Amino acid sequence: MEKRAGREPDRMQEIISLCKRRGYMFPSSEVYGGINAVFDYGPLGVEFKNNVKQAWWAAMTRRRDDVVGLDAGILMARRVWQASGHEEVFTDPLVDCTNCKERFRADQIEELTGAPDVCPKCGMKGTLTQPRQFNLMFKTYMGPVEEDAGLIYLRPETAQGIYVNFENVQTSMRRRLPFGIAQIGKAFRNEISPGNFTYRMREFEQMELQYFIDPAEEERWFTYWREQRWRWYQELGMKPEHMQWHEHTKEELAHYARAAVDIYFQFPFGWKEMEGIHDRTDWDLRRHSEFSGKDLSYYDDLEKRRFIPYIIETSAGADRGSLAFLCDAYDVEELEGGDTRVVLRLHKKLAPVKVAVMPLSKKEPLVALAHQVQDTVRDLGLTQYDETGGNIGKRYRRQDEIGTPYCVTIDFDSLEDRQVTIRERDSMEQRRVPIAELRATLAADLA
Ligand code: ATP
Repeated sequence: MEKRAGREPDRMQEIISLCKRRGYMFPSSEVYGGINAVFDYGPLGVEFKNNVKQAWWAAMTRRRDDVVGLDAGILMARRVWQASGHEEVFTDPLVDCTNCKERFRADQIEELTGAPDVCPKCGMKGTLTQPRQFNLMFKTYMGPVEEDAGLIYLRPETAQGIYVNFENVQTSMRRRLPFGIAQIGKAFRNEISPGNFTYRMREFEQMELQYFIDPAEEERWFTYWREQRWRWYQELGMKPEHMQWHEHTKEELAHYARAAVDIYFQFPFGWKEMEGIHDRTDWDLRRHSEFSGKDLSYYDDLEKRRFIPYIIETSAGADRGSLAFLCDAYDVEELEGGDTRVVLRLHKKLAPVKVAVMPLSKKEPLVALAHQVQDTVRDLGLTQYDETGGNIGKRYRRQDEIGTPYCVTIDFDSLEDRQVTIRERDSMEQRRVPIAELRATLAADLA
């Protein structure tokens, strides 16, 4: 269920336009008129989303001893989706409008129109059909013949690739409970009502952790992972006032979950889910044991006890999280003298460009020195070189708009005193530093 809040459609339009204009995201297949609910990440977007994914990977695997990584295939045996329940129940209720022929999710009609029987597109009353169940999995065929025996699905979540590898990972890595397996990868859902830019897409990426535990420790780990995940967003600068917990009611709970909470974010189009934390009990391993005939239980050799592990899952969207970070960071700041500037106040770890280097003039020997300076800071992350004419203020604004934390300016004095100016994005403060100390200074600032 998605709560409604004060809408700011203009703000969302500004962010979408910035993303397109500055190379963050583009509609997919745009020259052919676009394809609904798929987006391409441009040169800055790919860096930015990689930074989000790397921050997640570092927090969830590298900085811990109890979680390992995995990269499973997108295509899996059809039986996986029968065991998981997706073939049967991964459906949304769908209604058609007999007047305008548009299709909608039945559970969203009232939210969109304020009435259960009014079409959100043409506004006609009483033209909606009875709901019928529509499976969200994309189908394709394995092998050269399109026949039922070759039917498989594009995975609608990354989690199942982890469950079916539970035993492989546990034995090859010699793991004792509790331990987790983390994965980042593409998922596909044939959403009936996609929208809100990259919030709900048909092809997207998930960042999921499945944490395997002794059933006796269910509460402890459910609480622990809720806290960890909340903290992760805040450590990357997300404002606490833009985040909220949402506990699932009995009606909202998915078929596999005993308890579930979502972390909601206040998008410009309302409070909506950004990540889910689920107590999945032994449902997944039990079902895969039943369907595959392979015993996926765990033997605790210290306590001499055999049981099916419980699973606590943290399931985040890489695209949805990235969009939340962008919305959270987007700021239009009033400056002295009535001027305004657009600033993406992204955390330094997430900003796609870390340092922009700018010679004050396009002439030698300033340009050569600027290139030398850029080379000294290249290993700190993506750098940009900007010698375009126009005043330096305009160039700073362009970097503010894409979230670059530091600009380095090389002026005519630099040729004499071997010093450059560092200009900081948020405070707009400037300081002079010797070129010889620039790399170390920025490395410390970016750490
Ligand atoms: P929703 O209610 O928004 O459809 P869900 O409850 O079905 O989401 P989960 O199945 O729990 O979502 O998926 C976990 C996470 O994956 C979500 O919190 C979200 O960040 C991301 N996600 C799910 N569906 C999409 C989608 N269509 N586009 C982008 N991200 C998605």
